[in-house]
Amino acid sequence: MSNLARLEVIYNALDDSQWWPRERLVELQRVDLTRLVRHAKSTSPFYETRLDCLFRANGTIDWDRWVDVPIMTRAELSSEGDSIQTRKPIQAHGPFSWVKTSGSTGDPVKFVTTRMLGDLSLTSLWRGQKWAKMDWSATMIHMGDVSAKMKAGDVMGHWGPPWLAESRKGQRIFTSYETPMAERVALMQQYPSSYCVLGNGNALSLIEYLRENDVQIQLKGVQFRGMAANEFVRQDFRKYLNSDIVELYSSKEGGTMADPCPLGHGWHQHAESVLLEIVDSDGKPVPPGQMGRVVITPFGNTATPLIRYDHGDLAVAGPTEICPCGRTLPRIASFSGRVAHYFRKPNGDNIAWLSLDARIQLGAGIWQVARVAEDSFEVRYKKRDWGVKPDIEAFKKSFYDLYYPEAKLKIIEVDSFTLGKFGKHMELLDEWKPESQIHVKH
Ligand SMILES: [Zn+2]
Repeated sequence: MSNLARLEVIYNALDDSQWWPRERLVELQRVDLTRLVRHAKSTSPFYETRLDCLFRANGTIDWDRWVDVPIMTRAELSSEGDSIQTRKPIQAHGPFSWVKTSGSTGDPVKFVTTRMLGDLSLTSLWRGQKWAKMDWSATMIHMGDVSAKMKAGDVMGHWGPPWLAESRKGQRIFTSYETPMAERVALMQQYPSSYCVLGNGNALSLIEYLRENDVQIQLKGVQFRGMAANEFVRQDFRKYLNSDIVELYSSKEGGTMADPCPLGHGWHQHAESVLLEIVDSDGKPVPPGQMGRVVITPFGNTATPLIRYDHGDLAVAGPTEICPCGRTLPRIASFSGRVAHYFRKPNGDNIAWLSLDARIQLGAGIWQVARVAEDSFEVRYKKRDWGVKPDIEAFKKSFYDLYYPEAKLKIIEVDSFTLGKFGKHMELLDEWKPESQIHVKH
């Protein structure tokens, strides 16, 4: 079967299975998990005994013990990658390729992935784009890894499912994470009413650029990658670009894992491609409405099996009932960003993010809260006129309402921020103990 024909088959299957009875989806997941678990146990040294709790004496799998499978941390993937990798790649899942992830929020990881994970990720991405009613005949200003072969502005062909007539009218324009904002904006002007892919840092820089240079652009929508868009970014996109943000929960490890429900009832998991669990510190699922850590098992990567891999994010578990939109795919109420992006009180409680109101009280645009010593925090900000006079005392009250009495606060106005790797802007930064930005319990 050609690549294209195979993608069409998977996409059509996903279009159908989103409506299946829940039990049928669970059954499908168990078939995929069984295959992955047996393959990992028999061909990857890391898993030789790690999954033993799952197996009954007669060799069958006891699914009630799934929650006892140890959770794999990013640090383990970083240090044990070679032992996690299979000794017997399944050729039908290839070709295989190396992927690297940035180290901006923890240990950088490098591992082998499969064509199959890519196929599942791409077809799930299309399904999410269809839910968001994205127009595949439009231009998409893409944002990819820095490439020796591609330069900003290069035309890359379609971005929708290529067998559909409407997709054949669409085209993708290359930019990388490092493309300067002036060049990115020039492309948006050259291709009006296009979509673009942005991450948190680029999105903030784009807004700053438009404000400072008084440039008008019109986008159809922004596909927001990496982290959940905060309220500040969302509001600015409506104001300056008349454009909504389409979120997407994806990563190199798991592919496309969840997309927003088309009727606004939280998020739907792409359950045919990944088992996504939201768990407490003991690795047990949290009840609906509660926050927990995101732990994933992507079915497509049989080259570097990730079984109960801690994705480093926090999310709130969704209701167990079938969604009012009719899709049976499991739900997530909301994603709360990277665990790395929370500070904790001395009693261990997470500290919530400062609100948009606090930002307005300070008269701040882009900002960053940095912990510089045990109980000392700096709020660094770029000034922005919100049309009301800043009120520093009100801001301090907002700060202390969220933080704790012993916390020391210093407020510093800055001219600009330097973005981290892949254009990421860190709104919360632990400079005192950078390693504490990854909290891992297991
Ligand atoms: Zn729904």
